[in-house]
Amino acid sequence: MDYKNIQTICPYCGCGCALNLEVIDGEIVGVLPANDHPVSQGSLCIKGWNAHAFVGHEDRLKKPLIRKNGQLEEVSWNEALKLVAKNLGSIQKKHGADSIGVLTSAKCTNEENYLLQKFARAVIGTNNVDHCARL
Ligand code: SF4
Repeated sequence: MDYKNIQTICPYCGCGCALNLEVIDGEIVGVLPANDHPVSQGSLCIKGWNAHAFVGHEDRLKKPLIRKNGQLEEVSWNEALKLVAKNLGSIQKKHGADSIGVLTSAKCTNEENYLLQKFARAVIGTNNVDHCARL
């Protein structure tokens, strides 16, 4: 059995608590608080204690889906992103940039959130940007 304890940041909100992922044979099986972390100081809320649960969950979406003839079908990222770009472009043209909003997530890294707001402002042309930590 290969056991690893890997410290990371909880993905659920912007507090930034640290947790230790318990990994057995490459699978995340549990979470322990990080006693030495200056933010969380060995504490986690209930979401942090269960932060590993979604990673290997059978309901987790891992591939993009497009509804075709009333049924969701797995498609390539290329096909999904082309459809998103086409539809965002037509909504922007027909209703204006401020008809579009971008919701980001605490599960994204700071860098990903930065890119999403940049995409909203510089590419789409809207300041309608919000984040799940405020919802
Ligand atoms: S453990 Fe709770 S408070 Fe801490 S980052 Fe995660 S969700 Fe936020």
